[in-house]
Amino acid sequence: MTELNITTKIMVSSYTELTDDEKKLVDLAKEATKSSYAPYSHFHVGAAILLENGVLIKGANQENAAFAGICAERSAIYNAGANYPGIGIKKIAVTAFTRGDYVEEPCAPCGVCRQALLEFEKNAGYPMEVYMIGRDKIYHAASVADLLPLCFKEF
Ligand SMILES: [Zn+2]
Repeated sequence: MTELNITTKIMVSSYTELTDDEKKLVDLAKEATKSSYAPYSHFHVGAAILLENGVLIKGANQENAAFAGICAERSAIYNAGANYPGIGIKKIAVTAFTRGDYVEEPCAPCGVCRQALLEFEKNAGYPMEVYMIGRDKIYHAASVADLLPLCFKEF
């Protein structure tokens, strides 16, 4: 038996340490929480993506009574897939607003979204940077693959 060690590098920064372009993406993700429809969880998630053609797209979680809603990240990337097919995604930022404030700990994509984001990353042929935003700190992963090292592969 051998041991498989997996490491992931996540950079931690504050908002003020970001570049102007990064701040713009983070601001858009925060704005996107206002488009969330979350009457059941009251957990308003917002996402923003930057396409390789410079277009910015917002996403927000959308719930329903059957609990078959969609996360903010997938609402954003599926919007991109529908409206900008074949255009890669360079960056995604995600955050959440609940109980009157943004979440304290950086908001990370769920497992389903990681799998969906990874497939978009693979199709683009280059890493998609991921910004996970908390109230005072931001986690930055250089690639979706860093968040899902042992992914399901059928492609
Ligand atoms: Zn998700």
